[in-house]
Amino acid sequence: MALRAFTKKGIRSGFTRVLNSVPPRPAAQSFFSSSLEDAVKELTPASVRCISEFSFSSVSGLAHHKVQVVLPLTRCFHASSELWARRTNNELVHENSSNKKIPKKGKFVKRIRTEPPVEAPYVPPKLKRTTKSLVDKTIDIFEGMTIIELAKRAGESISTLQDILVNVGEKVDSEFDPLSIDIAELVAMEVGINVRRLHSNEGAEILPRPAVVTVMGHVDHGKTSLLDALRQTSVAAKEAGGITQHLGAFVVGMQSGASITFLDTPGHAAFSAMRARGAAVTDIVVLVVAADDGVMPQTLEAMAHAKAANVSIVVAINKCDKPAAEPERVKLQLASEGLLLEEMGGDVQVVQVSAIKKTGLDSLEEALLLQAEMMDLKARIDGPAQAYVVEARLDRGRGPLATAIVKAGTLVCGQHVVVGSEWGRIRAIRDMVGKLTEKATPTMPVEIEGLKGLPMAGDDIIVVESEERARMLSEGRKKKFEKDRLRKISEGATETLEPSDEVSKRVEMPIIVKADVQGTVQAVTDALRTLNSPQVFVNVVHVGVGPISQSDVELAKACGACIVGFNVKGPSSSIGLAASQASIKKLAV
Ligand code: GDP
Repeated sequence: MALRAFTKKGIRSGFTRVLNSVPPRPAAQSFFSSSLEDAVKELTPASVRCISEFSFSSVSGLAHHKVQVVLPLTRCFHASSELWARRTNNELVHENSSNKKIPKKGKFVKRIRTEPPVEAPYVPPKLKRTTKSLVDKTIDIFEGMTIIELAKRAGESISTLQDILVNVGEKVDSEFDPLSIDIAELVAMEVGINVRRLHSNEGAEILPRPAVVTVMGHVDHGKTSLLDALRQTSVAAKEAGGITQHLGAFVVGMQSGASITFLDTPGHAAFSAMRARGAAVTDIVVLVVAADDGVMPQTLEAMAHAKAANVSIVVAINKCDKPAAEPERVKLQLASEGLLLEEMGGDVQVVQVSAIKKTGLDSLEEALLLQAEMMDLKARIDGPAQAYVVEARLDRGRGPLATAIVKAGTLVCGQHVVVGSEWGRIRAIRDMVGKLTEKATPTMPVEIEGLKGLPMAGDDIIVVESEERARMLSEGRKKKFEKDRLRKISEGATETLEPSDEVSKRVEMPIIVKADVQGTVQAVTDALRTLNSPQVFVNVVHVGVGPISQSDVELAKACGACIVGFNVKGPSSSIGLAASQASIKKLAV
């Protein structure tokens, strides 16, 4: 470095002074007097090439060395005369500014802070990774696990968990004592961890069970029509003279005595929403493809969802009554999308149907039964029930009602249950015909009454031993749910604030969603959220079941939201008037 400074700068400054006949500055003087000879000895061939055309005359005994310069050779150091002029000026400025080194532009300079930043407040470092990983962590819990096992899975110390146990009023003498699964969940929630309940099938009665089927496919390909047609053949329709209502699920009975349970909300939005909440109730997906339209984007999406959930597919080529129907083309398209159809050597059955003409429905039901048989579906029949909500609604007289499908065990009237973050004591169980029944067995859709609040589609239903336990678990879940919600909001806020100006220009669109049943509310909300983009942020501020009410209008007024009503009766004239006065946009779908 010293050498380079010497060759490039030292010589140049010496050169400048000789040219201008200015006596050398002190710094240059010391340089000239002491090190020139030594430095010349150390010159590299490259630098020598640069200065070879200078002539040095060193007179021994003299106080300094004299450098003679040949004028035209300045080109050795500078490509152009402007650059030369600029560099010379810069150097003069540098030297005049109290000997401070000014870094050259574009070069990285390590700044050493000498004074504390007085005005900047201390901002604690964000423990983003740790917090996130903890909240997103899910552990498996089971009945009878010890504190040691729980501590190991949760990554917490035994003493921390013991303190929490004391706080929730549970007396545990030793860390080897078995914990009930509910207490394990409470403790895990206290430390902010999600749980997955494992149920043992040991010593239980395992019996074959009917399949649960969901209908998916592209919009307008006839999912709803097919479900309607199938519902007409359902047990409920037969008993009620063809009159049925949308309750979230229905059962189709076959002559052989076997049955199939159909989930009533078509589309993969509802399917994924249920799955996201841990409710993997579907065994088989009926993929509806219109014979006159073929494979479309949502057909592929439905296929992807089914594959991701590891659920079998049975294809229903619908609208086969149409003259433009080309079922063979649809089959080829599906095969080219990687679906291994039975007639092409694979295992995916294809049935041609017409939902409108009600043809091919028997074949579809038989194909589903065959698929279920091949899957050898079985479930634990005895023991406490493990069930999921597929639909929920508010009834004026009966309060919150939830349509549930039992996955394992038996749900019995009078039991205390925790449903999502709600709880209650089952006052009544009704089957899909509306008949009161004492208990519900696997895959039997039932309507339960007696909950304190309205649960959501996909919520799990667990049976607990007492009212106190139910209250405690419900409170714990609500607390955790709220904590997670706030965390998501704050994460969303930082994400929105952090990036460039473009994000701050994102337009927020507050929306209130009202629909006839809980499942639809969720499906509509999910569909609206898919509209989120870098330009628009769909903020669903409130969702609810039932007609648009005065309080919805008030809320919309307060936050400038528009109201989306799906499958609900139009609001009364007074509410409509209030909404128009407040310039609230209403959208009835
Ligand atoms: P979804 O959006 O998939 O639920 O489709 P829909 O069930 O709402 O049906 C969309 C349209 O296709 C409606 O106008 C139905 O009448 C019509 N449609 C459904 N199935 C059939 C069918 O088998 N044949 C004919 N010709 N039309 C059908």
